[in-house]
Amino acid sequence: MTLHFPFDNTYARLPDSFYARVEPTSVTAPRLIRLNRDLALQLRLDPDLLSSPDGVELLSGNWVPDTAEPIAMAYAGHQFGQFVPQLGDGRAILLGEVVDRDGVRRDIQLKGSGPTPFSRRGDGRAALGPVLREYLLSEAMAALGLPTTRALAAVLTGETVVRETLLPGAVLTRVASGHIRVGTFQFFAARQDVKGLRLLADYVIGRHYPQAAESDRPYRELLDQVIAAQADLIARWLHLGFIHGVMNTDNMSIAGETIDYGPCAFMDAYDPATVFSSIDQNGRYAYGNQPRIGLWNLTRLAEALLPLLSQDEEKAVAEANEALEAFSGKFEAAYHEGLRRKLGLLTEREGDSTLAGDLLKAMAENQADFTLTFRRLSDAAAGPEADTAVRNLFINPLAYDAWATRWRERLGHEPHDGASRQAAMRAVNPAYIPRNHRVEIVIQAAVERDDFAPFEELLMVLSKPYEDQPSFAHYAAPPEPSERVYQTFCGT
Ligand code: AMP
Ligand code: MG
Repeated sequence: MTLHFPFDNTYARLPDSFYARVEPTSVTAPRLIRLNRDLALQLRLDPDLLSSPDGVELLSGNWVPDTAEPIAMAYAGHQFGQFVPQLGDGRAILLGEVVDRDGVRRDIQLKGSGPTPFSRRGDGRAALGPVLREYLLSEAMAALGLPTTRALAAVLTGETVVRETLLPGAVLTRVASGHIRVGTFQFFAARQDVKGLRLLADYVIGRHYPQAAESDRPYRELLDQVIAAQADLIARWLHLGFIHGVMNTDNMSIAGETIDYGPCAFMDAYDPATVFSSIDQNGRYAYGNQPRIGLWNLTRLAEALLPLLSQDEEKAVAEANEALEAFSGKFEAAYHEGLRRKLGLLTEREGDSTLAGDLLKAMAENQADFTLTFRRLSDAAAGPEADTAVRNLFINPLAYDAWATRWRERLGHEPHDGASRQAAMRAVNPAYIPRNHRVEIVIQAAVERDDFAPFEELLMVLSKPYEDQPSFAHYAAPPEPSERVYQTFCGT
């Protein structure tokens, strides 16, 4: 093989208890669906080689370069509130790490590459639909500017996987700044393996939060940093109407990236109680519950870290509580700051949160489309001529009119002119999100007709979410009642 892969694997140098060494299982007829060429270049990999037959062998798990050290990572986690002491990568294999153009170390992982010692009853495989779904949603998230894992490639395996029906199998190559989860800490804490816990914490500090090493309380600083990263991430999800769908502690990244795109979705009409995931019966992971669940998960992280926070248990608990108490303030600050920017308020005044909250309330009562309301509001910020397009999104348009009067009055206190305000708002209020019904159309075409043109087109539109793309304006539209998607499913 001519393909040189500059892997440099730090996680595989940690002790055996951190992972299981396992080779991907080969597949019969790999076929490249898509290679993310820009991301390949960012990773200092050659896109032409990666899309060559040798490259596709690598991306399907059929060939493992000798610089790779394939492992399935061990972790535990709370799933819907229930603690499971051992989960681990059941259908993912970390090939290794590369250092990208910006000097950032990135994991390269195959998802759907065959069973591992952590597969339990699963087959270690992934179906085409969930692979395309993760590709689209994670790349959309990146284009929207949020921290997220990325998709480097998707390949068909030429094999079928058994779900409710037989489906085409696929492998996703996922790139992350790290795959360590809250559940990874829980794995060691549950085993009372303080040595392992400390090694993991030191590894995370070295890789993700190097400034914590300078602190006289490095583990407390680590906890503070993870809490800050998650508070910010979840606030940004809310600004985009994103619902993760399975915020189990094993699906929460220590590096603060959005990870594990399963039944996640962007909502259409605004309603904080929105749930899409078929397995989330009680709405534990509903849109509006995400900050609360974020804190719940971080509390599990703090518990796992207790032995490192202080040798004195009482002191450790006090440290943990102090760190956790900061979450709400950090979240609220990020959330309200983002909302102000969505409304074109670049300065801060008393009453801003109420103004934003009242708009959201009117949107919820009038089933206004979340993304379109803010996008069109950006144009209304330049002048009231554009109000019609916004008010039409409300069942009762008068609800908007009443609010808009207050908004305009508030805008009068801003130092900016209409045009610059409009530009600033358009830069934070996307026109295009991966709407569920569009994602479903793409998946159906691929699974039923082997047609990937809709996937390519949607991906292209989503790569410039803040730009008007007149020939693709229909991608911005909410679903017709007949197109509405009510449920999404896990990738398993
Ligand atoms: P998730 O809810 O997708 O984050 O997965 C939870 C756990 O189930 C993780 O340990 C996964 O590795 C495992 N898992 C999910 N799907 C499969 C599968 N098809 N085969 C084996 N393990 C799986
Ligand atoms: Mg997971």
